[in-house]
Amino acid sequence: GISINGLNKSFGETSVLKDISLDIAPGERVVVIGPSGTGKSTLLRCLNYLDRPDSGTIRVGDLTVNPAKASRSDILALRRRTSFVFQNYALFANKTARQNITQALITVKGQSKADAQARADEILRETGLADKANSYPAALSGGQQQRVGIGRAMALDADLMLFDEPTSALDPEWVGEVLDLMRRVAEKRQTMLIVTHEMQFAREIADRIIFMSDGQIVEQGTPEKLLETPQDPRTQAFLRRVA
Ligand code: ATP
Ligand code: MG
Repeated sequence: GISINGLNKSFGETSVLKDISLDIAPGERVVVIGPSGTGKSTLLRCLNYLDRPDSGTIRVGDLTVNPAKASRSDILALRRRTSFVFQNYALFANKTARQNITQALITVKGQSKADAQARADEILRETGLADKANSYPAALSGGQQQRVGIGRAMALDADLMLFDEPTSALDPEWVGEVLDLMRRVAEKRQTMLIVTHEMQFAREIADRIIFMSDGQIVEQGTPEKLLETPQDPRTQAFLRRVA
């Protein structure tokens, strides 16, 4: 499982994550919701060390990473075990769909080119993109680009997949196919931590929903409990706004 303990992160004077602790069970699907500027992206980025936390421990399986003594190899190990799906896909524009996936396997997992290509082809089939293998991102729809982004994260076989608003940059017509792919990932009991504003999807996919506000976890529970009977006034106000 995954265990986050006492995570803190400030940007200058601004404290963005305030002592976040969170355990995630193997196979659990956790959705994070909350107002803009609350630290949801920063939390995910800290879990992948895209932002370095100021303090706090992240444990993934037998790997424990703490900023006081995190070496380069600890951080690379963490990145092998946590994969990231970005709001804006973050694909290399000068690489094809297939090359975007193989590059990640070579860089992050140290795979040989042949192994990476074989795995990329498997993933392209699984994500319904086999016929787009040699297309560059500019020639793909937003939905296809994000499916490459998700495929790239799937290919890493990480212990935890992190999704930061994976559909919020998409034209509405492409949202469905991306959510469908995420449902397929979830069906494999992949452990997932998802920031999303798609409340219907959150209700359907989540084992647990966490409401964050102002750098803290305010409240969490099953979708039914959190969405139907929120306890904290901040959760209630947020849900009224997004409903
Ligand atoms: P949204 O729903 O709009 O995506 P969020 O909950 O993901 O919001 P974050 O992006 O984590 O919020 O930002 C939390 C706070 O941290 C904001 O006040 C933001 O301005 C600040 N912040 C985030 N990244 C940086 C950075 N690199 N440098 C300075 N401040 C930052
Ligand atoms: Mg964000």
